[in-house]
Amino acid sequence: MKVVQLLPILVRNSDGSGLGQKAGRVPDSAPEVSRDSGLSSGSSLDLDRLATAISAEFNVRCEVVPAALDPAPSFHSGRQQYYSTDLLARMQKHLTPACWRVLGVTPLDLYIPILTFVFGEAQLEGGCALVSTYRLRQEFYGLPPDPDLLRQRLLKEAIHELGHTLSLTHCEDYECVMAPSHAVEWIDLKSSRVCRECRRAIAGC
Ligand SMILES: [Zn+2]
Ligand SMILES: [Zn+2]
Repeated sequence: MKVVQLLPILVRNSDGSGLGQKAGRVPDSAPEVSRDSGLSSGSSLDLDRLATAISAEFNVRCEVVPAALDPAPSFHSGRQQYYSTDLLARMQKHLTPACWRVLGVTPLDLYIPILTFVFGEAQLEGGCALVSTYRLRQEFYGLPPDPDLLRQRLLKEAIHELGHTLSLTHCEDYECVMAPSHAVEWIDLKSSRVCRECRRAIAGC
C-alpha cells in the first residue's frame, strides 16, 4: 500500500529542543510568540486523527513522522513569514522509495512572493505538499478558538494539497475539496471530499 508521511514542521526552541514535538501533535494556537520566528505555540492538534482521515480518502497508509525539518532557513525576516516553495524544495529529501508522498503540516505563516500568504502549497504531480494552520485558526480573525472547525479546515486543505500532487487542478464544483480557497470562508463552503469528476481524473493517472 502507498505511504503518505505527515511531517510536522516546527521551529526549534533556542535551547535546541523541539517545540511540541510529541509524536502526532503540532502546536496550533498563539499565546506565545518566539523571538525569531513568529511561531505560535500552545494547544495541540491531533495529527494522528488527520492521518486516519487522509488514509480513508486516498486509500493509502498515512503515518505521522517526527519533526525533522528545520524551517529556519526558509524564514523571511522582512515579511516575518516562511517561504513555502523553499520549504517544499527542502522537504524533497524526505521522499524515499518507501514513501509515496510527504505532507508537511506547520503552525507557521507561509507565503509565496506574489501573494500575501498561502494556506498551503504543493508540487503539481510531485511528491511534496505543505499546509499551514496559521490562518485556519479562528483566533487569527479575532474569534474564539474552535478546535472542531480548525480540524475540518486542516483536513480539507491537506486533502486539497495532496490532490494537487496527484495532478488535480482547481475544480469548479464549489463543494469539491479541489475548489480554490482564497479565504477561510471558501474553505468552510466546500466538503472534505474529492468530487466524482476529480476522483475519475485521479483514477485515470
Ligand atoms: Zn489549490
Ligand atoms: Zn472536483
